[in-house]
Amino acid sequence: MCLQKLTELNLGNNVLEEIPPVLKHFSCLNKLYLYANKISHLPPEVLEGLPNLELLNLNHNRIKVIPAEIKRLCSLKSISVTDNHLQQIPAELGLMKSLTEINFTNNKLTQIPQQLYNLPQLRKLYLARNNLTDLPEGTLGWKTLKILDVAGNCLSVFPVGFQFLTLEELFFEGNSLVPFTLMESIQVKEVFSLKELSARLILQQSTNKLSVVSRALPVFPELQDMLSHWGQCALCSQPFLTTWLECVQFINTRKHMGMKSSQSVPVRVLLCSYDCFNRDDHQYYGLVRL
Ligand SMILES: [Zn+2]
Repeated sequence: MCLQKLTELNLGNNVLEEIPPVLKHFSCLNKLYLYANKISHLPPEVLEGLPNLELLNLNHNRIKVIPAEIKRLCSLKSISVTDNHLQQIPAELGLMKSLTEINFTNNKLTQIPQQLYNLPQLRKLYLARNNLTDLPEGTLGWKTLKILDVAGNCLSVFPVGFQFLTLEELFFEGNSLVPFTLMESIQVKEVFSLKELSARLILQQSTNKLSVVSRALPVFPELQDMLSHWGQCALCSQPFLTTWLECVQFINTRKHMGMKSSQSVPVRVLLCSYDCFNRDDHQYYGLVRL
């Protein structure tokens, strides 16, 4: 208790089974190292007492859950919980706007919350050696991300718009990425449902503020709600309601993303029709789902 002015504390390489509760009084603490202990849970009351903490290192422990109260660490810039037993990350992590670096390497994560895309200062994200099968849609939120490590997971394809990130380093070896195979659609003409055709017409016309549709829409809130989940064709930019084709485009990290390394990355693209799929000049290769 007499060390409450401490700004840095290293308790690494010990046999602690819990975070010492007294730490909740160390409100000046800036850096806290608790790596290589036997800690299995993070008591919310301790997290609430560390408003100035900028670095938290919990590597090599036995933590399964990060509690939602992690958001109380409002100054945290770097969190590292490698080599633990994490099964999921709380969505509240997306509220920690100061975070610049997250390291969850070697855990048991199967997914990450979409809220991680809300971190405006995130520069480094390490998620290697987990069990991720998918990254959620919305990657464009990562405006500042420079390093992404997702090596050693179970990813098959990267999310829509991934090629627009301004990454400097990308690690993705050891995944289950879709193979590079040229496919052509044999479908000549598709038949859209009446609902889909109407939806496309309404979506198109709703962009014109003077159209009848734009003026009528406010009267039909249910229709507005239904149309709110629309998508846009990656080739012709036309709006559609139902994802008609989910394809894969192989992006070159040097050519398309301006990175130093040259690697081929499969990125998900959404198309409006077979017409668009067949129109392309060998840009879309793997056809993931019809
Ligand atoms: Zn199209």
